[in-house]
Amino acid sequence: MAFVKRRFQRKKVCRFCTETIDIDYKDVKLLRQFVTERGKIMPRRLTGTCARHQRQLATAVKTARIIALLPFSLTK
Ligand SMILES: [Zn+2]
Repeated sequence: MAFVKRRFQRKKVCRFCTETIDIDYKDVKLLRQFVTERGKIMPRRLTGTCARHQRQLATAVKTARIIALLPFSLTK
């Protein structure tokens, strides 16, 4: 078999599926982990988040931005 099941799947597993975290736009600490220093939403291929959760995450980040919990872009 070409693909061997590995115990260590480095950040390629959706964190929201494995840890069953609720994506909350008020949870800035959580959202910040999926946003770059510049305030951009991290792409799925970097975080490993599944499509469903990535979508929820993007919505949450956008909501958080509107109510000014997260910056639209961070320019120092
Ligand atoms: Zn997921």
